[in-house]
Amino acid sequence: MTSYDKHYYDGAWQPSTGSETIAVISSATELEIARVPRGTAADVDQAVKAARRGFESWSRLGVEERAQWLEKLAAALKTRAPQIAEAIAHEVGTALGYATKVQVEFPIMMIGMNAKFIREAKLQEELGNSLIIKEPVGVVGCVTPWNYPLHQIVCKIAPAFAAGCTVVLKPAEMAPLSAFFLAEAAHEIGLPRGVFNVVSGSGRVVGEAIVAHPDVDMVSFTGSLQAGRRIASVAGDGIKKVCLELGGKSAFVVLDDAPFDKAIPAGVNNCMQNSGQTCSAWTRMIVPRRRHDEAVEMAKAQLAKLTLGDPFDKNTRLGPLASATQRDTVLDYIETGKKEGAKLAAGGGRPPQFAKGYYVEPTIFANVDNTMTIAQEEIFGPVLSIIPYDTDAAAVAIANDSPYGLAGGVWAGSEERALDVAKQLRTGQVDINGGRFNVLAPFGGYKKSGIGREIGPLAIEEFFQLKSIQR
Ligand code: NDP
Repeated sequence: MTSYDKHYYDGAWQPSTGSETIAVISSATELEIARVPRGTAADVDQAVKAARRGFESWSRLGVEERAQWLEKLAAALKTRAPQIAEAIAHEVGTALGYATKVQVEFPIMMIGMNAKFIREAKLQEELGNSLIIKEPVGVVGCVTPWNYPLHQIVCKIAPAFAAGCTVVLKPAEMAPLSAFFLAEAAHEIGLPRGVFNVVSGSGRVVGEAIVAHPDVDMVSFTGSLQAGRRIASVAGDGIKKVCLELGGKSAFVVLDDAPFDKAIPAGVNNCMQNSGQTCSAWTRMIVPRRRHDEAVEMAKAQLAKLTLGDPFDKNTRLGPLASATQRDTVLDYIETGKKEGAKLAAGGGRPPQFAKGYYVEPTIFANVDNTMTIAQEEIFGPVLSIIPYDTDAAAVAIANDSPYGLAGGVWAGSEERALDVAKQLRTGQVDINGGRFNVLAPFGGYKKSGIGREIGPLAIEEFFQLKSIQR
């Protein structure tokens, strides 16, 4: 993989004011695959100044021109798709086939879709004697995590650009390469100076410098609750708008009349996607007590079909976790689950067959009580908790007994019954009876899963402010 020794801002590759670099490590081989600069607050300051200058002209550009830039960016990124997928398979451990489709092709498509969304957006309306105008917020500071590195960046920058905002991005230290591929693509198409600016580095230094910078008007963050709290407080100090996409502990409620042969495998697949490193994963499967043991057996059978292996092997469904830290955190949670009395039904440790790589066996706990740590805290690994319930009301109460409220699922014998339960869940998304992910639907959290929405046409609204002109 290519290493980068410069940040990208003001339409050019810029040397870092710091001398340190960050090693990008392959989660499968544990070897270094590339390096990127460890930026400083001074780099951020230059990048924000460039974004501010860029905003003056970008915000005034016609909608059609901005839409065309998005389409050009998507096309330039498409030519790099294989390299990006390869980088993400190394960085995150995502199986290459899944990485290609979900981690790369999907976000590239989303860039193009934002062109359509902004062309169709209603940017002003009459209300009484007022003209209400939507205007871009300004310079947006974006801070992103490592689990779906390109996707998380695109969820922010594509609607921001569409709305007329410029961006300063700090990608995750563990998976920064997508941001550099994007910068290369932006440079190649000649995206106007200052529209897209990347400074790599740590959250503590570069991330905080972006969030605290007085010339950043809005912060869009995806990551942990802990970092989200800190970011909200720093941004709050500057009275900045924030959009926070935080963690989840989503529940999948299986009602007693659901077709278990479809529902249980779907629940397992959802929980395990990207080896459980997915914020919206259904990590709690809530099943009728009298069918609990049957559900556990079916879940184990499905799990056995998800081959654990090298992300570059075409038979692999689940790769290693992204880092040694992530692996150790997940293993600690598994130990806690055992100590707190959950019944280990599958997995539960490090798979012996891999000499290298941050692998964890996909794991199922049965007879989990929702008050246990493994049912309350986000593990961010391949660990499913199966929780029994006695009545529908109890199932809803268990699902809602979580600090988070990001996603969830319900499967019932009829749409009516599933919908009834779905409406009672305090969560930003619910898929019923196998409903598929919809790229038009807003995505985001209730409760401690965040503030604001991403994805689809409504995501652009986050990057506007409203002006009322009376006449
Ligand atoms: P972190 O919160 O640790 O990091 C996310 C990003 O924030 C990284 O770029 C990180 O930098 C940076 N950061 C950390 N602290 C600060 C700070 N004080 N100021 C500014 N930036 C900071 O999360 P992870 O990267 O570990 O990602 C996993 C978490 O993200 C999980 O909790 C998961 O649920 C959540 N997530 C939520 C999603 C959603 O849409 N709701 C989607 C994906 C993940 P550095 O690179 O140095 O760590």
